Amino acid sequence: MDKYSILKDYFGHSAFRSGQEELIDNILSGKDVLGIMPTGAGKSVCYQIPSMLMNGLTIVISPLISLMKDQVSSLNNIGINAVCINSSLSIDEYRYSFDALYSGMCKIVYVAPERLDTPDFLSFAVNSNISMVTVDEAHCVSQWGQDFRPGYLRIAEFIKKLPVRPVVSAFTATATKTVQDDIVSLLGLENPYAVATGYDRKNLFFSVLKPDDKYKELVKFLKEHDGKSGIVYCLSRKNVETVCEKLCQNGFSASRYHAGLSDEERRQNQDDFIFDRKQIMVATNAFGMGIDKSNVSFVVHYNMPKDPESYYQEAGRAGRDGSESECVILYSGADVRTNRFMIENSREENEELSDEEREDILRKDLERLKQMTFYCTTTDCLRGFMLKYFGEKPSGYCGKCSNCTDGFETVDITTDALKIISCIYRMHKEKNMYFGRTILVDTLRGSNNEKIKSLGFESLSTYGIMKDVTAKKIRSEIDFLTQNGYITATETDYPTLMLNRQSGEFLRDKTEITMKMPKEKKLTVKKLSDVSADDFLFLELKRLRNAIASKDLVPAYIVFSDAALKDMCRIKPVNISQFMRVAGVGKVKAERYGEKFCHCIRNYLLEHPQINN
Ligand code: ADP
Ligand code: ZN
Repeated sequence: MDKYSILKDYFGHSAFRSGQEELIDNILSGKDVLGIMPTGAGKSVCYQIPSMLMNGLTIVISPLISLMKDQVSSLNNIGINAVCINSSLSIDEYRYSFDALYSGMCKIVYVAPERLDTPDFLSFAVNSNISMVTVDEAHCVSQWGQDFRPGYLRIAEFIKKLPVRPVVSAFTATATKTVQDDIVSLLGLENPYAVATGYDRKNLFFSVLKPDDKYKELVKFLKEHDGKSGIVYCLSRKNVETVCEKLCQNGFSASRYHAGLSDEERRQNQDDFIFDRKQIMVATNAFGMGIDKSNVSFVVHYNMPKDPESYYQEAGRAGRDGSESECVILYSGADVRTNRFMIENSREENEELSDEEREDILRKDLERLKQMTFYCTTTDCLRGFMLKYFGEKPSGYCGKCSNCTDGFETVDITTDALKIISCIYRMHKEKNMYFGRTILVDTLRGSNNEKIKSLGFESLSTYGIMKDVTAKKIRSEIDFLTQNGYITATETDYPTLMLNRQSGEFLRDKTEITMKMPKEKKLTVKKLSDVSADDFLFLELKRLRNAIASKDLVPAYIVFSDAALKDMCRIKPVNISQFMRVAGVGKVKAERYGEKFCHCIRNYLLEHPQINN
């Protein structure tokens, strides 16, 4: 048995992904490692494969009990012996886990950090052959990370108590430089081999929409993604309630999740989503930590989240199985104000902070909010924006975000820019003060409302010079000019727009300004004739998978991921040896399920003789 045959026979993958092999090799040569890889990149096999090749036991420390059960059932399902120890076990389950550990049959045990120094576990560990300690979600050890867990600080001590020092491997999806340093020192990693594979998630399509009616846009999106699983994030509990209720009334299969619900309802709703009994989860950001559901096909943000870190983490819950998936923000200016309000009114819990430190945190939070707003209003590549934010160099044009695809066209806005900037100049000259965007737009469009009249702007030479242009278009041009430095906006709820040196230079030189703008979008509804034959096979296979899953009481994606089913549609295996070629199919799964799926495919081909493979 070597790493390649384990990858193929147990996990059903034919090649390693970026970073995996080097991490595995270093672990096997006895070195500590630190792997920083984005969600869905495949961190688990980096320690699961070495655990099979080392002679002792691997202890995996993980912060989330829900995640543990999932991982253990996934492993058992592909023929790898694993158990978990945490506070959710019944006495019988607890005894079963320890029996399995003492029997020496088990290769991997998942434990919560708080369990490490309990007498039962400690006395087991010091008397056993421990080859490796793996720390999952390693950023939890750092107070600078987002999810600090004090229990993680005990890990280093626990390792010291073991008679022979095992290899220590640590993994996380996001870690700034400070957090990385903390991971190394606080976990006591010894000269670790570090791999960072980058933040890009190639199978995700990013888009930002600015709909006049968010709910209508959401419904349209959900109709286009009928039959797929996804999350809709809202900023407030109240929003979750309203959106979920409306969706249910309109016949969608939706559930809800936020911190205001009872534990019981939250557990129930989460399970409904994970087990595919409900397709859409409407939730606040309280939902998702530790949700390992691999077939989430879309993540819609009904409101813009508070910072790029949260956004990338939440959006990243889509497409973990590698399938093409979508991440959409339904942006409106009001989201910025709501977030600002929430940031300014969230009292920092930590009493030890000085006023100065509090100020500092507030300032950083507002800066992050600003960056998030830039993401939503930029006309440059969205993927590129995020990668740059996390310190990477993007390649310019990704072709897989709403700004890069042909939904946009490049428009020369030099003349409009001249009109807008001149108007700010005239208004300022008239009243000796600056104004906000609404009054500017009203003046440019020649509105005859009271406000404009009372200010006397009707007599300006710029009054009405853009009356043929929609207010929406003028607003987006103003935002573009602000972002690109032609106009300065104050950082207030209703920003005042001011001229600066760059505006002056532009009025003088009139250098060309171009901007990407959305083309008129057509509603695309799939016609029955567009549905390919494979779509029907996919539905058949899904039905079979769900039947097996509900019989075995496991979530459907534990049986096979959507990606594996799609590969079956492509290959159409009719016998076991062909079945082994499907991505994600190893020996155990082929034996366990192969015949059932081949049978289903054979029948399908008989019923549809026109499909030749
Ligand atoms: P992470 O923990 O990094 O978020 P996982 O370990 O859960 O990611 O893996 C994400 C998905 O990628 C899983 O569905 C897994 O089966 C798949 N995967 C992992 N390694 C490979 C590989 N070498 N080839 C193909 N798929 C892989
Ligand atoms: Zn792009």
